[in-house]
Amino acid sequence: MYKIAVIPGDGIGKEVMEATLHVLEAIDVEFDYTFADAGDEYMEKTGVALPQETVDIVKSSQACLFGAAGESAADVIVKMRQELDLYVNLRPVKSYPGTKSLFDNLDFVIVRENTEGLYIGLEEETEEGATALRVTTRKAAEKICKYAFEYAKKTGRKKVTAVHKANVLKKTDGLFKETFYKVAEDYPDMELDDRYVDATAMFFITKPDMFDVIVTTNLFGDILSDEGAGLVGGLGLIPSANIGDKQGLFEPVHGSAPRIAGQGIANPSAMILSAVLMLDYLEENEAARKLENALVDVLAEGNVVTVDLGGSASTMEMAAEIRSKLEK
Ligand code: ATP
Ligand code: MG
Repeated sequence: MYKIAVIPGDGIGKEVMEATLHVLEAIDVEFDYTFADAGDEYMEKTGVALPQETVDIVKSSQACLFGAAGESAADVIVKMRQELDLYVNLRPVKSYPGTKSLFDNLDFVIVRENTEGLYIGLEEETEEGATALRVTTRKAAEKICKYAFEYAKKTGRKKVTAVHKANVLKKTDGLFKETFYKVAEDYPDMELDDRYVDATAMFFITKPDMFDVIVTTNLFGDILSDEGAGLVGGLGLIPSANIGDKQGLFEPVHGSAPRIAGQGIANPSAMILSAVLMLDYLEENEAARKLENALVDVLAEGNVVTVDLGGSASTMEMAAEIRSKLEK
């Protein structure tokens, strides 16, 4: 029995969460859910977007499923990353048949450092304009590289690529690259290489099948993740994970989508795939594959899918179809 914090949040976050919990009922894994508040709606009622109680609930859980927060998203998620030291941001780039992907058979993962780099928040106005500090600590570089290699090993992947700009950012990315190769010594069977971020951005478009696991710093990972999302098409399909040493928080990449909220037409796939990432994180890999395959079948058949996928099914109709595959 896993203790899971559930934060539906705002807008379509609530709708895709309901769909996901409905589907998870048909999986052979027991969950003990604790529901918690965060986001715009809660903020309107109480004046805070992320109450301490919610942070405490997540802290005492093994994992958290997070729907979406509207305008307060940055506050909620950034604060949660800090409070729980969620130093890994994991983004799969995977193409599914039946969806509008630029390439078939794409399957790689971006492991982004989530706590430092250029996003450390040390910006300053100067006489001439402004400056921002870019931070690489040995400890964080080591942790993220180690995570990438462990993840590759655990999931049977063959190659880890460090992405950086060490030719220009000689100190910060120099250290990142050096740390990568040092950590790699513990993984003699893993194929590895490193590339400049600019070249990587190009190769995503021209030769994306060269990648398997990418490990990179905060800003580069942020940008490449969205480029990766563009490759496999459609916000409604892209999950993400924020992982620390104690918890993982799993959320769709899309937000609360106020323009389509309340209509019951949101695509639940990104949230369901976030639950797949959670199952993998909990090492329930068999259940993860089962759930993923049920979704893949429904996407490939294309009969009971939401409007953004070219269908006319509601969120819950699509969820019910996925569940019926699981119950077969
Ligand atoms: P927020 O400020 O909460 O991020 P937003 O207006 O930026 O809200 P997003 O959730 O980022 O909205 O989504 C942008 C658009 O992408 C939506 O208006 C919608 O058309 C589409 N979209 C996003 N997620 C989904 C989904 N799950 N299903 C269908 N369409 C989606
Ligand atoms: Mg948005």
